[in-house]
Amino acid sequence: MSSDTSSPTTDISTARRIRCLSASVINKIAAGEVIERPASVVKELLENSVDAGATQVEVSIENGGLDAIRVTDNGCGIPYDDLQLAVTSHATSKIESADDLFRVGTFGFRGEALASIAEISEFTLRTRTPDQDSGYEMFVRGGHTESVAPVGCPIGTTIRVDNLFFNTPVRRKFLRTAQTEAGHVTEAFTRVALAYPAVHLILRSGGKVVYDLPPCGDWQTRIHDFFGSEISGALIPIESSEGGVRLSGYTVDPSVSRSHNRMQYLFLNGRYIRDKSLQHALSEAYRGLLMTGRFPICFLRLEMPFDLVDVNVHPAKLEVRFQDGGKLYSQLLATLRNRFLSTDLTARAQLTNRGEFPPPVPSPFPPYSGSSSGFSLAPPSSLQQHRIEFTAPAPTRNWLDKANDPVPPPQLGSANYGSSAATSASPSSEAQSFSNPGLSAGSSGTGQANQATEFAGTGSTPLPASSPQRVRALQVQNTYLVLETEEGMVIIDQHALHERILYEQFKAKVSAGGFETQQLLVPVTVTLRPAEAAAVLQQAAVLRKFGIVVEPFGGDTVAISGYPAILSRQDPAEMLRMVLDPLMTEGASPHTGTLLDELLNMMACKAAVKAGDRLSAEEIAALLEHRELCRDSHHCPHGRPTALVFTREELDRRFKRI
Ligand code: ADP
Ligand code: MG
Repeated sequence: MSSDTSSPTTDISTARRIRCLSASVINKIAAGEVIERPASVVKELLENSVDAGATQVEVSIENGGLDAIRVTDNGCGIPYDDLQLAVTSHATSKIESADDLFRVGTFGFRGEALASIAEISEFTLRTRTPDQDSGYEMFVRGGHTESVAPVGCPIGTTIRVDNLFFNTPVRRKFLRTAQTEAGHVTEAFTRVALAYPAVHLILRSGGKVVYDLPPCGDWQTRIHDFFGSEISGALIPIESSEGGVRLSGYTVDPSVSRSHNRMQYLFLNGRYIRDKSLQHALSEAYRGLLMTGRFPICFLRLEMPFDLVDVNVHPAKLEVRFQDGGKLYSQLLATLRNRFLSTDLTARAQLTNRGEFPPPVPSPFPPYSGSSSGFSLAPPSSLQQHRIEFTAPAPTRNWLDKANDPVPPPQLGSANYGSSAATSASPSSEAQSFSNPGLSAGSSGTGQANQATEFAGTGSTPLPASSPQRVRALQVQNTYLVLETEEGMVIIDQHALHERILYEQFKAKVSAGGFETQQLLVPVTVTLRPAEAAAVLQQAAVLRKFGIVVEPFGGDTVAISGYPAILSRQDPAEMLRMVLDPLMTEGASPHTGTLLDELLNMMACKAAVKAGDRLSAEEIAALLEHRELCRDSHHCPHGRPTALVFTREELDRRFKRI
């Protein structure tokens, strides 16, 4: 150690002796890494029970686990001769050699957990193996074994941990309220219970049963037990296999999301993990389906040969290192994206179960009040959630607001639509994936237009599925289009839908070489702030893709010599000021993809019809026709839903017919 890092009082002339730390200190150091709070104890003990092959495990905590934690299982038990080893560090029954480290199929392998826990608590282990007539109880206090005695007990293991951190007061000081600690315990319990639906798991807090989860064969039931029908009714099953890596489970319809990413459950070979890269892949898959600040929910299982991953990189094994993280990223992204393409993600006024799932099982427990029991995981009622989802005002950007928009909106059917068939981002194969039977992409626009305003035949006879569909749409409040579908009715946000259609068209244009530029006879000069001018000139190549041609004009002034032909009604200077926002926020980011996307969003938003624009029958028909052809037409590029479906059943329910 160099002298400048020593404390000033140290006399450097005294040689420091190196000595081996005592087992007790070693265990306390390990405990500092592995055992952070009562929930860490619950996690380790639950994992040991699962490793022991238990089919039933019961967890009880008192005072958030601060006073006592007890975990009882019916697993294989610990042989008498191994009792002392169980609480000795680096003693494990799960691996033998370093080679085994690279094919770990159990939760444990470090042999540290019990030694750490026993070091910092009053620890009682009661266990019996199937071949023993009686069991044994061992009591360890602060790392010292104080007694081992025979005791009558069933086959399996019970571990009781009292007064956690009693001899490490600093750690105890960091703990939160019993209620917060109980919340962490519930989360630890949830992770194991989700990973092992075939194990009967019980959680008690302060004597009250919080969860009693009978073994179940399917994952949805367990997901429902924890999160209620709001989530279990919105599950979208996914599955893919690539190079020995199997990805399965569920992702959740974007109409149900969270303001945090803690509901992204990812299990690698049965172990809950967190992985930044895979979380990013998930966000990418949901890009344009969720509003800013919202996070997807998922329950995903990754199964891969043990040698493709290193689980020995994190003391609590929460993080792992994949041999080929990039490949995994692509597999997850592609699997989700493909699934979304074949799924109708149109928002429903009330999410009903999608035929493929059994009806939700009523939760065995009433939702927690969060008060007395100290748990606050109560899922909001689904109705409440949907009110929030559907009625919260969408954050508008100023150019969305007609009052602030001095420029008349471009006309549908003119430049924006003229070449749409040729430049559409969606090949016709994708069109098939949107199966809304009320709209037929192939039918003639004018034919539809004629019928668009016709509301006469409300007909009780269902429309024959094979005949050309009659699209009946009504524009209300110059903002929404209401139309009948086979399922019921759908309300479309005209701006949001048009924005999505243009976004996809523009995106195709940009990747096919960029927008056509309209040259200005006399360049328009704009004086910007220094940082803005620098950003604009630095990203000139990206802007060029959008048809915007900028050149330096001296100082902080730039000259615009060309602008996108598609936005010919836009004032060029105004247009440049609009792109400044994404340029300044995203321009510095190393991902040009994000900047491109922001610019596409902005262009689409600017060019789309606005809320408040009266549409002609032809325009309505064109919009509906493109809805069929366009990918992700259910959400605008900012993640707002473009359409809201009211099923016949839902209407009947609301009108008290059923
Ligand atoms: P690890 O799980 O990494 O092996 P632990 O300290 O958690 O280390 O456990 C040490 C050993 O004690 C395990 O390898 C296992 O043999 C035994 N053990 C712990 N808990 C149980 C249990 N509930 N049932 C049977 N054996 C157990
Ligand atoms: Mg263990």
